[in-house]
Amino acid sequence: MRFALAAGRVSGWLAGRVHLTHLDCSLCGKPHDAATPQNVSACCGKPLFARYDLAAAARTLTRDALRGRVKSLWRYREVLPVKSDEDVVTLGEGFTPLLPASRLGARHGMTRLFIKDEAQNPTGSFKARGMTTAVSMAKQFGLKKLAVPSAGNAAGALAAYAARAGMEAHIFMPRDTPRANVVECEQTGAFVTLIDGLITDCGAEVARRKTAEGWFDVSTLKEPYRAEGKKTLGYELAEQLEWELPDVIVYPTGGGTGLIGMWKAFEELQQLRLLPAGVKLPRMFTVQATGCQPIVRAFETGEKFAAEHLGAHTKASGLRVPKAIGDFLMLRALRDSHGGAIAVTDEEMITCTKEIGAAEGVFAAPEGAACYAALKQLLAAKEISASDRVVLFNTGSGLKYLECFGG
Ligand SMILES: *Cc1c(COP(=O)(O)O)cnc(C)c1O
Ligand SMILES: [Zn+2]
Repeated sequence: MRFALAAGRVSGWLAGRVHLTHLDCSLCGKPHDAATPQNVSACCGKPLFARYDLAAAARTLTRDALRGRVKSLWRYREVLPVKSDEDVVTLGEGFTPLLPASRLGARHGMTRLFIKDEAQNPTGSFKARGMTTAVSMAKQFGLKKLAVPSAGNAAGALAAYAARAGMEAHIFMPRDTPRANVVECEQTGAFVTLIDGLITDCGAEVARRKTAEGWFDVSTLKEPYRAEGKKTLGYELAEQLEWELPDVIVYPTGGGTGLIGMWKAFEELQQLRLLPAGVKLPRMFTVQATGCQPIVRAFETGEKFAAEHLGAHTKASGLRVPKAIGDFLMLRALRDSHGGAIAVTDEEMITCTKEIGAAEGVFAAPEGAACYAALKQLLAAKEISASDRVVLFNTGSGLKYLECFGG
């Protein structure tokens, strides 16, 4: 196989086929250099988006060419940022199954309900997608020490990918982070600090210490390449649905990288002509916890940016993000797609975990179960129709959240 995964590397790659050209400020569009490590934009302090020569990429990234490629997200090599295969740090992430959820769907008269099962990624969550690209770019730039504030799964993924790359991972998590996340970081050799506070407090600690310690900050959307790994969710949906898109995507948001990444992917797919220009895009619905719903509130009140959710609490640690730097990008995608924002309670998440598990054999993370709770609300409100093709995202494995189930 031309793109076989050998010795942890994407082999068979021909140099010169990576088409990253520069980075753009996601707020004002000002271009930034992609040849040096970057965090947020110098102009606005907002996320930077990687830009590619998509016309050049389209010459080799075709539907046919994809058929024989490696079954990981690195199959979309032309639109991923890393220059040389030598720098690709991989554990086999991505290209997770899009499972038909026919038994669950039948309960609601739905025949086209799917679960994108991201629990099957290395480290048991879709955070692996972002970390494979971010750590690979860090390797390309010769960085040795990476730091991250995390609600849990990003920490586990960074720890694993940093170990794989022979780098140091410095991890800051709230003290009440699920135990699985703390243990997995320790067992993959990371430096772990637990903080009495929220992910925002952890972020402040990284910001305060990073210069003196020589750490590179890989916080969500505060470096450009985690979103590039996450955007492959959008590429995979299109490819797995035989180059069609779902009508509706229900996705649990914390920092929003996945939602923002997918929306970027749908634009790129059209420019690459993998999808026809002007194709009908999915309606994007974000799901948050009632105890931490800054995006839901901002969506409902028509704000461009989201105010911090004070006193944030939820057992779905991935959703415990009271303030996100990409808030305006999430809100824009929800509005442009004619989607929406829904809050669900922790109790609903726990009930839905068992419903999904017993019906479909998928032991979902509470964040994933939240999507099913939201689906019920959307159907009840006739916001979406039972005949829609709907994709729910199970973003992580229930195994990482045993505390939530009385354990
Ligand atoms: C981080 C995380 C989320 C939120 O993802 P974003 O892309 O940051 O919005 C959802 N679910 C799980 C399991 C997570 O780990
Ligand atoms: Zn700007």
